[in-house]
Parts: sequence; structure tokens; C-alpha cells
Amino acid sequence: MGGWQDYVRKVVPYTPGEQPKRADIIKLNTNENPYPPAPGVEQALRAVEADALRRYPDPLVSDLVHAIAEFYRVEDAQVFVGVGSDDVLAMIFLTFFNGDKPIIFPDITYSFYDVWAQLFRIPYEQLPLDEDFKIREEDYIRPNGGVIFPNPNAPTGELMPLAQIERIIAANPDVIVVVDEAYIDFGGESALPLIDRYENLIVVQTFSKSRSMAGSRIGYAISNPKIIQYLNDVKYSFNSYTMDCVTIALGVAAVRDRAYLEETTEKIIRTREWTKGQLRELGFVFGDSKSNFIFARHPEISGTALFEALREAGIYVRHFSKPERINEYLRITVGTDEEMERFIAFLREYIA
Ligand SMILES: *Cc1c(COP(=O)(O)O)cnc(C)c1O
Repeated sequence: MGGWQDYVRKVVPYTPGEQPKRADIIKLNTNENPYPPAPGVEQALRAVEADALRRYPDPLVSDLVHAIAEFYRVEDAQVFVGVGSDDVLAMIFLTFFNGDKPIIFPDITYSFYDVWAQLFRIPYEQLPLDEDFKIREEDYIRPNGGVIFPNPNAPTGELMPLAQIERIIAANPDVIVVVDEAYIDFGGESALPLIDRYENLIVVQTFSKSRSMAGSRIGYAISNPKIIQYLNDVKYSFNSYTMDCVTIALGVAAVRDRAYLEETTEKIIRTREWTKGQLRELGFVFGDSKSNFIFARHPEISGTALFEALREAGIYVRHFSKPERINEYLRITVGTDEEMERFIAFLREYIA
């Protein structure tokens, strides 16, 4: 074996949910949106001319930055755009988590955080959620190198009240606190209003879930201009043309349609609450998810068995075998009414 093997940056990669090739699958395994993107997105796509591809895209992504800034009523200088929020989060880790103290995040959370920490050699500590899968506020008030958590948390769907988030931010003035709001549009209260009051806060959101554009890869961070500048400096030192010109145009069209966002997220929330009622009748146990998925277990049926049976029936959900505390749970993405009716019908039959 060559000595170079000692110098490989080894990492255990993040495992994304399965993307089946078959079209007849009821796909409730990756928290995608069951509705199409806003109608303007399709128009923008049709308007694309191949000739535009001759040129490099705008490295500043100015049109999309401006559209997002307008939507959230902030300055353009407060918005950073990346290729999915995964890209945004990775840039945040690289830019701000360079101390000696461990960064902290929950033990049960988005499983990309520990992957980036390992990749970038950032020390980290995972703090156990309480019995009800809630983040323990007091755990986040201690010396650390940075704080990150999703709100609502994934895969639990638990929403932390804004007052509690504010106390965590206020207690950590010397480090960056990142609130990953991938699911905030499904009934949560965003931490965005706090960015004017706390210079250590970064709020990250994505077009993948509520705006139904997981395939386009658009994510963004909103913070103060100084933080955004630091992020851009790192981004332009890494790869300056990350977002292609077509995606920029589609993103602008999507973000301009506030009414469509509200209409489709409300629909998903209604379907989620209906599904919760059905699952409760069937004996499932779960928390009060405020996201576009439900994290549930059945006291008498093993998570693995149920996952396999659903899969056999062409219904894909997500099952995490690790950590052990969640291996009886299934994470079920909220689909259309029809998809959820078929999902529930299968369960009724299976459980009977
Ligand atoms: C889905 C998700 C993301 C990443 O989404 P992108 O598709 O990369 O924008 C980030 N954080 C959490 C908690 C997620 O669930």
C-alpha cells in the first residue's frame, strides 16, 4: 500500500433517501413536496434559450439574491445563496466553525452535520434530546465552538418556540448560532426577525421543501451583511460559479409567488393533520410535527418490519436504523391526499 493512503481525507458520507426509478411508487421518503413548483417556474423554464449557456452565470446570483431579499424584506447584502441549503450549511461550517471548542448540535438531528464536522475536522458534541425528542435548552448554554440545530428538528418534526431559540442565541454571543429552517414554512415561527438584534445568528432556508424545487438545488442564508460577506469570501475562494443561469431564473420565478407558497403549504398542513388523526386511530405514537413529515412508531410493530412491508407495497418511507433510540420509528413525508389515503388504507389492512 502506498504511503499516500495515510494522507487521504477519509469520511463516512451522508446517506440520502432512495430515489426509485419506478414511477408508480408512493414516495414518502425524502420530504419532497407532492405539488409542482409555482406556475411561473414552468414559464421561466420554457423561456430558457440554449444560447444563454455560452456565458458563465452571474457569480453574484444578484437577481435571485434580490428576489429573496424582497420577499423577506431584508437588504440584498443580508442574503447568501447556495446550491441547496446543504451547500450553504457546508460553507457556514467551513467559514465559522474554526475554534478549538466543540460545536454542539442534537444527537438526533439532520445527519449531515456530523459528516461536515468530520470532513472539515471540526470537533463536535451531540447533545441528547429529552424523552419527548425535544431539545434541552439548558444543554446549549455552555462553552462551545458554535451551535446548529434545525427548527423544526429533523427527523422528529419538533418545533422549538421562538422565545427558547432567542435565549440560546443570547446565551452564546461569542459563537455563531445557525438555525436550519428547512421546514419552517409548515407551521413554525421563523427566527428571521431576530437577525436585527443578534449579530451571531444565521437563518438557513431552502427551496427544496416548501417551494417544491429539490431538483433545482437552491438554498439561502439570511444574516447581517458582515456574516454574509465572510461567507461570500469563502465561497468565491472555493468555486465562484456554483449556481447555473437556468436555476437562477427558476428561483426568481418561484420566490415571487407568495400566494402559491401559502396555498400549497396550507394544503400540506391540512393533509398532515388528517394523517395524524388516522395514525392515532391505528395506534401509532408520535409528536406534534410542524413539518411536512410525521415521525411515528407503532407500539406493537417493529419499525423495520413495517418499513419492509410498506416497501413491498410500493410505499417508500424513511427508516433510520441508527441511533437505536429511533429505530422503531418511521419518518413519513406528507404527500397528496390521495397518496396518504392509500398509505393509511395499506396500514389498516396490515394492522388488522
Ligand atoms: C432537506 C434538509 C436540508 C437540505 O436541503 P437542500 O435540499 O440541500 O436545500 C437541510 N437541513 C435539513 C434539516 C433538511 O431536512
